This record gives sequence, structure tokens and C-alpha cells, in this order.
Amino acid sequence: MIHSLKVGRANVFVIQEEKTIIVDTGSPKKSDFLLQSLYKLGVTKNSVSLILLTHGHLDHFGNINEIRSVFNAPVAIHREDVGALEKGQDSYLKPTRKRGALIKPFLHGKIKGTSPDMLIDTTLSLKPFGVNGKVVHTPGHTDGSLSVILKNKEMIIGDLLMGGHIGGFFLPHKPRHHYFAHNMDTAQKSIQRLLHEKPSKIYVGHGGPLTFRDIQKREF
Ligand SMILES: [Zn+2]
Ligand SMILES: [Zn+2]
Repeated sequence: MIHSLKVGRANVFVIQEEKTIIVDTGSPKKSDFLLQSLYKLGVTKNSVSLILLTHGHLDHFGNINEIRSVFNAPVAIHREDVGALEKGQDSYLKPTRKRGALIKPFLHGKIKGTSPDMLIDTTLSLKPFGVNGKVVHTPGHTDGSLSVILKNKEMIIGDLLMGGHIGGFFLPHKPRHHYFAHNMDTAQKSIQRLLHEKPSKIYVGHGGPLTFRDIQKREF
């Protein structure tokens, strides 16, 4: 079961099966809200087996220091995105269209940098972490973007796509490309690869969730 929490500008996901996996941590300075939300879901210090970061953007790892100090679990990120986490700030953001260029000057900020406990390269089975599923490398938005695919084909794809406009404020279920992508061609390939697996539901970092049908209709 996947729970979605809006923490600042981005969604945080809580996968609860035999164990709990926390996916992303939201925008900075929201750790109290995030922790309270996690406790409300019944998440306890020792029930968490993994803290997974979909990619190295500040609005997704903003509360990593506070969260990792509470839960007894390793932090994992893809090797290509580790630099941003260690610096505690976004690496270069390449706008995909005009709005990306317009909002870019407002996206600065920094937290205390930190190092992960695990680096992911191509794939990671979540079985040892008490969840029926896997993590796969789906580059494009960033070089090290990761997605989670559960056995029931529910997916968490980070910022590979987003839902609606202004962080999902309008039309949150309408699939769109993110405002930023390091490599659009690579992003398209990653999206096609995921669609090939016929997702039952697609959770994204902003807005959503999305359906397979809506994405297919828009021909990404
Ligand atoms: Zn991002
Ligand atoms: Zn984001």
C-alpha cells in the first residue's frame, strides 16, 4: 500500500508492506509535519527498512537529515545524483520550457549535505527490505533518477513526469513533462520503458497520481 503525503512542494511516499519504505522527504523545513504524518500512519522507528531518494533535488531530500536521525534505516540514492545530496543543494537545473526558466531564479536553498549509506546503479530488489517490488534506474529528469515498481504495478516515478500545473495545484491528474530535465530524450526512453510494464497507478513527485491511459493519450 502506498500513502502519499504532500510535504511542502513535493510528495513523499510511504510504502507499507511487511516493512515500511519512505520514498523522498519533501521540501526543507517541513520535518515536524512529515514526522507527525508518518507517526499517524503508524510508522515507528524500527518499522522503516529503507529511506529511498528518487533523485538529487532539494525538494525531494529537504528533510533527509531530520528523518534519518529518527529512523533506523539506510539512505539510498543513485550514484549519479549523490553529489547534490552531499552538497545539500540542487545541481544544475535545465529548464524544459519557458515556465522552467521563469521559476528557476526562485529555486535556491540549501541544507546540510549528507552522504548516503547505499548507492544504486541499475536496479535494487526491495524484497530484503520487506516490500514486494524493485527500484529501477530511469534517467532523464536527472542522470540518477530512480523509480519504484511494486509487484501490483503501482509505480513511484519521482519527477520523470508530473501531474498538472504549479506543482499539481491545477489539474493534478494531467500528465506533463517536468519543468526541468537534464536530458529529454533519455526521459522519453525511461517513460516508454515504464509504460511497457503497464503500470496500474503512477505516483509522481508533484501532483498526481496518474494513470496509464492518461499518459498513453498524451503520447509521451
Ligand atoms: Zn526534481
Ligand atoms: Zn521535484
